[in-house]
Amino acid sequence: MTIKRKLFNDKTSYNIDNINMPQDKDSFSTDEYSSNSPVTDDYSPDGLNKNMLRMKRNISKDIEYLTFPLLEETHLVRHLFSTRLGGVSKGIFSSMNLSYTRGDDKEAVDENYRRIAGALGCEVTDIVCSDQTHTTNVRVVDEKDRGKGVLYPKDYTDVDGLITNVRGIVLATFYADCVPLFFIDTKNKAIGLSHSGWRGTVNRMGAATLEAMNEAFGTMPEDVCAAIGPSICRDCYEVSEDVAEAFRQEFKGLGQEKELLVDKGFGKYYLDLWRANQIVLEEAGVSPDKIQVTDICTCCNPSYLFSHRASQGKRGNLGAFMGLV
Ligand SMILES: [Zn+2]
Repeated sequence: MTIKRKLFNDKTSYNIDNINMPQDKDSFSTDEYSSNSPVTDDYSPDGLNKNMLRMKRNISKDIEYLTFPLLEETHLVRHLFSTRLGGVSKGIFSSMNLSYTRGDDKEAVDENYRRIAGALGCEVTDIVCSDQTHTTNVRVVDEKDRGKGVLYPKDYTDVDGLITNVRGIVLATFYADCVPLFFIDTKNKAIGLSHSGWRGTVNRMGAATLEAMNEAFGTMPEDVCAAIGPSICRDCYEVSEDVAEAFRQEFKGLGQEKELLVDKGFGKYYLDLWRANQIVLEEAGVSPDKIQVTDICTCCNPSYLFSHRASQGKRGNLGAFMGLV
C-alpha cells in the first residue's frame, strides 16, 4: 500500500540535476578517486574529523559507515548510513555503490549489498528499497516486500518514503546530496525512512512520513525520535531564484526565510536543507531534543561520500538502512 499526499506544487519541474555547481569551489576531478583501492588508505579524515560531532564512524569488516547515537540509544533498531569505503565497485562508483541503475556492474553491487547486510547483521533478503522520484509518497512495507529492489524487482514505483512495524525488515533509501530522514516511533515500535531532496523538503516529506506512520500504526509525533542524515550543507548548496521562491512561499514562520536562505546576489542563494527539514519535523510535532541533525556534508567530503554536485553527476549511490530488531 502506498500512501500518497497532495504536493505543495505538482507543476514544478525543478530537478536537482539542473542546479548549478557552486562557483567558488574548485572544480571536481574524477581522477581523485579513479583507482579502486580501499579508499581508507588514501582518504585523509582530517577535514572530516572536526565536523564529526554528531554521528559515529564505525568500521566493520573493512566497510565504514555512519550511525546516529540518538537512534542507537533507543535499542529498537539497527541502522547505518553508508560511505564510499569498503565496497568492490570501481572508477566513479568506487567503491561502495548501492545503485543498480547508474551503470555499475551488477555483480559488484550485489557484493556491496552483501557487505552492507553483514555490517547490519541481516540478510540481503531482509532489505526493501525505495523507488525515488522526488515524490512524498510513502509505502507501508510488509513481509511480502522482503528483498524487493535487491534480489527481486520492485512491483511499485514513485515511492520516496518507506515505513514498517515488521521486525527484521530493513528499509533502504538512497542518496548523493539529498537528505535522508530517519524515524523511530518508540511507543508503537514502528520505523520510517524518507528521501527528502529540495522538492521533498518544500513539500514537507518529513510531515508526510509522520502522517503515513500515524495512519498505519497510530504513531504520534511526540513518541518519535528522528534523524536528519548526511547530505549537502548550506555552504555547498547554491540554488536559483525559483527554488528560493518555493521555500519563501512554504516557510513563512518567524525568521524562517532568514534561517534558510542566504542571498548571494545575482539571483543565487544558499539553501539550508538541514534546518528546513528540522523545521518541518518540529512543526509536525517532533520534540526538538529528539531530532539529531547531521553535520557531515556529502559535497564537502566527495572522497568519503558520493555527491552529485561535487562529481557533476558521475557517482554511485549511498544508502540509508534501518530495521526493527
Ligand atoms: Zn558542504
